[in-house]
Amino acid sequence: MSFTDLNLDEQLLRAIQACGFTSPSDIQKQAIPVALEGHDLMASAQTGTGKTAAFVLPALQRLLNNEPAPGHGPRVLILTPTRELATQVTDAIRDLGKFSRLRSTTVVGGMPYPPQIKMLRQPLDLLVATPGRLIDHFESGRLDFGRLEMLVLDEADRMLDMGFVDDVERIAAALPEQRQTLLFSATLEGEVRNVARRLLKEPQRIQIAGVKTNHDSIDQHIHQADDFRHKQALLAHHLGQEAVSQAIVFTATKRGADDLAKQLREQGHRSAALHGDMSQGARRRTVEQMRRGQCRVLVATDVAARGIDIKGLSHVFNFDLPMAAEDYIHRIGRTGRGGASGTALSLVGPQEWDKVARIEKLTGCKLNRLVLDGLEPRQPEPKPFAQRGKGGRPGGYGQKRRFGGNNKPGGGNGRKPTIHHKRPAVGGRPRSAGNGQG
Ligand code: ADP
Ligand code: MG
Repeated sequence: MSFTDLNLDEQLLRAIQACGFTSPSDIQKQAIPVALEGHDLMASAQTGTGKTAAFVLPALQRLLNNEPAPGHGPRVLILTPTRELATQVTDAIRDLGKFSRLRSTTVVGGMPYPPQIKMLRQPLDLLVATPGRLIDHFESGRLDFGRLEMLVLDEADRMLDMGFVDDVERIAAALPEQRQTLLFSATLEGEVRNVARRLLKEPQRIQIAGVKTNHDSIDQHIHQADDFRHKQALLAHHLGQEAVSQAIVFTATKRGADDLAKQLREQGHRSAALHGDMSQGARRRTVEQMRRGQCRVLVATDVAARGIDIKGLSHVFNFDLPMAAEDYIHRIGRTGRGGASGTALSLVGPQEWDKVARIEKLTGCKLNRLVLDGLEPRQPEPKPFAQRGKGGRPGGYGQKRRFGGNNKPGGGNGRKPTIHHKRPAVGGRPRSAGNGQG
């Protein structure tokens, strides 16, 4: 099935193409036709499977189909649990709606009120919001829901986990009865089900089973790192490999991105930082340089890298692991696109093992442990929290695999490594001892 089978207007199809989406994902194939028919819908699928477009496209199509009723309030309201998710949805609306003169606005917490108030006075087609801030505006009488046609609850399970259930129900109660409601969630059980029962009318249920996202083409590895310098040495080793044609390196902070990019330049890499403190123009220029191949290593924060799409990235490095496992999936999704294979390599500091555990839980697959000769970690891998003091489990955490040897993957997902390493150059890392052989 292709997007053209989905009964979407030409302008949406063009935008889809401009986004580089070649065919709809499973959730999109199933959810879009149901939503276009006007049914209420509750749908679940794993993170990274394209749920955003699965509701943004039918929402846009609906706005294009229907004559707007008089008034200036939003016609589609999308609620998301966090500011970051709201930004992602807003970006998707901007990209997928770029040929469709529809107006959208975002109101989220943690941002100043006056610009939001000003925007809410303008005529509006789509409104993306976090529940708390939306309630504030609503209670101050700044929102007219008179012509609202569609409500979308994105990441409903997280929204409820975060304690937004009352806010969501109050908002829904203020909306016209005659509306379409779409609910997207990682799960459709528990409280989500109760809320759906109250807010949706005869919903169709779509559940895309399985953990496997479209990340099968990405080889995922981790390196245990003792400290910052060890991470630097491991990164330097990998960037010295020819197999790395172009890479993004993710850091936790803007400062970290700047410092690391500078350091890599000093080591002779064509490298640049990308983060939220840079002007829009500077960011655009950097991304352009990357696209043209003038830059080989982009050092970025999550927020800055969001929404940018660079074709042909061979590697994603996590210099720091992200707080949320979902962000890990978004990060590694930058490589292995369009049928190409990619490699994701994460450097795990002593304090970052709980993040590894969360990622493995979410993806349902154990990340391959890599060790480089001469750059071995000094300590064994810490046991996961649940197993501390129990002596561990054979074949579980703590097994390592060495490149270059004949060891079989240690209880992992059975994937074969596709990268092979020579021994790192002599003097790869200043260490207390034993580096001379390296
Ligand atoms: P989810 O909400 O299910 O976690 P997203 O909607 O954030 O997932 O999508 C994950 C990534 O996949 C995004 O970078 C998005 O641009 C991309 N994507 C979505 N649909 C497609 C598609 N049909 N083809 C290729 N990439 C897609
Ligand atoms: Mg999502």
